Amino acid sequence: MKKIQMVDLQSQYYKIKADVDNAVLNVIDSAAFINGPEVKSFQNELQEYLDVKHVIPCANGTDALQIALMALDLNEGDEVITADFTFAATVEVVQLLKLKSVLIDVDYDTFTIDIDRLKAAITPKTKAIIPVHLFGQCSNMEAVLNVAKEHNLFVIEDNAQAIGSDFTFSDGSVRKAGTMGVLGTTSFFPSKNLGCYGDGGAIFTNDDELAHKIRGIVNHGMYERYYHDEVGVNSRLDSIQATVLRKKLPLLDGYNDARRKAADYYDEAFAGQNNILTPKRADYSTHVFHQYTLRITNGKRNELQQFLTEKEIPAMIYYPVALRKQKAYFQESDPKDFVNTDKLLDQVISLPMHTELEEEQLKYITDAVLDFMNKNN
Ligand SMILES: *Cc1c(COP(=O)(O)O)cnc(C)c1O
Repeated sequence: MKKIQMVDLQSQYYKIKADVDNAVLNVIDSAAFINGPEVKSFQNELQEYLDVKHVIPCANGTDALQIALMALDLNEGDEVITADFTFAATVEVVQLLKLKSVLIDVDYDTFTIDIDRLKAAITPKTKAIIPVHLFGQCSNMEAVLNVAKEHNLFVIEDNAQAIGSDFTFSDGSVRKAGTMGVLGTTSFFPSKNLGCYGDGGAIFTNDDELAHKIRGIVNHGMYERYYHDEVGVNSRLDSIQATVLRKKLPLLDGYNDARRKAADYYDEAFAGQNNILTPKRADYSTHVFHQYTLRITNGKRNELQQFLTEKEIPAMIYYPVALRKQKAYFQESDPKDFVNTDKLLDQVISLPMHTELEEEQLKYITDAVLDFMNKNN
């Protein structure tokens, strides 16, 4: 059996190696490393895939979030609501821009922002909400957008983990993750569902004015060469990454299908098990399984991880510490307001999840988990 990895980027690469190698060598040969035609083509192709008017590529997913917030012209101290249970980049950029992050609890079943907590967290200083589509499934965007509309708030979707996922509204209309808020962001970090071979990211919007503004911000605030209208940043996707992404974008739906197939296998193996809760699939969103995350309810999560490690099965705790308890983003809080996050920190464990998992590996992993759980019921 092939060695089990959390993410197997090499096996995925080998299947497209000739094509990708050729494309990368062509970019080198063209010497159009920065802002070349490959970047423009990728941008257009991603716009079409997402059915969104503007894709603005940038250097990584954290920059994408920062630039999105910069474009909204918020003032120091304005409040931005986001989830307490997520990767730190989301809150990091809020703090970096001297805005005030307001962290709230997530829903226990979907790991995404809790709508009642969201409503309760709104104050006159609230300006924006950043729902994070954690682990590959959309937040409840219809509810988030309704709350935002009622209170006149910006919505920025952090879509680093759910590219390709579809959200279905109650009127039956369907939109791609990242294209429902006024702005959406993503990351092309290698292990993401659409990953390049280095760093990359992008911002999405249907708003022409914001798109224009963001194209300036990513390029030193320049709208005309050497005229700097505002303080911007330097954040670019390079042509080599763009050409890799052009090869992988047509494969994204197939990649997400492969992830779902692995998730189906896991779900079936763990169905009806005491003390194991499999990830819930919300009826409003397709799931692209950036992570496959179990909740272990017998208090033995850490022992399970240890057991799996001994069997050479990698398993990760995403995420072990609440953002509100991190030194950098500390927020006074009442545990009663974070019941779900605090439970999840003790219960979650993510199993290997990628596009190249083989049945033999899945069987080995699920057998090991079941073996441990049956001994520890
Ligand atoms: C990966 C990730 C980011 C940051 O992306 P980078 O490209 O690594 O900067 C932001 N938010 C979430 C939820 C992520 O998973």
